[in-house]
Amino acid sequence: MTRNWAGNIQYSATEFIRPTTVEQVRKAVAHAGRVRALGTRHSFNDLADSPGVLLSVADLPPVVDVDATRATARVAAGLSYAELAPRLDAAGFALPAMASLPHISVGGAVATATHGSGVRNQVLSAAVRELELVTADGDVVSIGRDDADFDGVVVGLGSLGVVTHLTLDLVPTYQLRQRVYEGLALEVLDDHFAELMSCAYSVCLFTDWREPVLTQVWVQERVDQPATLPSWFTATPADGPRHPVDGVDPVSCTTQGGVPGPWFERLPHFRSDQPPSSSGDELQSEYMIPADDAVAALHALDDVREQIRPALQICEVRTAARDDFWLSTCYGRETVSIHFTWVSDISVVLPVVELVEQQLAPFSPRPHWAKTSVATAEYERLPDFRELMDRYDPAGKFTNAFTERHFSSVRPVPHLSGRTR
Ligand SMILES: Cc1cc2nc3c(=O)[nH]c(=O)nc-3n(C[C@H](O)[C@H](O)[C@H](O)COP(=O)(O)OP(=O)(O)OC[C@H]3O[C@@H](n4cnc5c(N)ncnc54)[C@H](O)[C@@H]3O)c2cc1C
Repeated sequence: MTRNWAGNIQYSATEFIRPTTVEQVRKAVAHAGRVRALGTRHSFNDLADSPGVLLSVADLPPVVDVDATRATARVAAGLSYAELAPRLDAAGFALPAMASLPHISVGGAVATATHGSGVRNQVLSAAVRELELVTADGDVVSIGRDDADFDGVVVGLGSLGVVTHLTLDLVPTYQLRQRVYEGLALEVLDDHFAELMSCAYSVCLFTDWREPVLTQVWVQERVDQPATLPSWFTATPADGPRHPVDGVDPVSCTTQGGVPGPWFERLPHFRSDQPPSSSGDELQSEYMIPADDAVAALHALDDVREQIRPALQICEVRTAARDDFWLSTCYGRETVSIHFTWVSDISVVLPVVELVEQQLAPFSPRPHWAKTSVATAEYERLPDFRELMDRYDPAGKFTNAFTERHFSSVRPVPHLSGRTR
């Protein structure tokens, strides 16, 4: 197991370990020179790599302790959402949002501000009320919402320690219907983007950029909160199940056609019992921009759609509500995400990524931490995060080439230095 899911990253780690107890995690971290947590390997860049030890928490006991009175669950960080969600549902609870793929680990998704869609739905990290972290010296610390470091630690990119458990806020379980519509002219969004994205619990737009057209609109309505499709909505209901990529068998996709089902079998695009159809034969990039700039940004991409096309499998537009996590791509702003599933050939993809970044540059894009990008973003709280790195990991045990590129030139904020955790 030396490569990431997409196969484009060969990890440079010299050792891969899978401890089965927290005590073993503590010892391994304390004794390692360089170490980093590895989740389910779904990142597309070298974020998860370490020149020393890669440590997976997937073999810790698969704890899911639901506290029905507080509507919380303490869960093992190595669980995937596919493993976690049915157990929450069986206890009468749910999460507000899920990513397109349920196979990713909770620890990895939370660490990178992974998101789903829905104007009122925040990144998956927002469900965290407390996390248990093994720090560089092998100590276990619990950090909850009352802790001054909390907003910096949750989206920690694996750079502050190894998360073994998280306590998540839950909501009562709910049912959704998912419907796919086809063929909505891009120009319709000029006057109606916000209305479209808020017409249901979660809305996802797809385009292959062959034409200035949204090839598919996925509408996910809660059964108890029906969608309000506007009168101008001229897209036509799909006459059968669809995969977002034209011509690909939708067998891996979650149930569509308005059939009611549990939240965890409708919110993700892909079924938990199937690999997504391309099974890793792809690269991905994604940029979070302020929601108010979405229409202008889509037009900027439309201007170069001929150049985007050869590298593209599909482009997806989603929304996420603002949050306060220092390194969240949705920090401090209502967000629209523009995602690209590329072909797997990086030599074809990279020039197009640079072009896309050039087109999106006026909109202060924040690249997804875990996907392919060239540009970097400005984060107001980055110096504060840098101070956390110094304080939690003074010897740089959790650093790697990615953190060197992104954080080495950032200077910590002096007034925070020396605070004890
Ligand atoms: C097919 C596909 C679909 C995707 N869909 C979405 C989507 O809908 N929305 C979205 O936002 N992203 C999406 N992603 C990206 C994905 O959510 C992120 O790459 C996420 O980080 C993957 O989690 P992982 O467990 O695979 O993490 P890894 O890739 O293994 O690691 C990512 C980072 O998390 C850290 N980490 C992992 N576990 C821990 C832990 N226990 N403690 C501390 N740090 C840890 C690692 O150190 C690393 O820095 C998708 C990726 C794929 C391949």
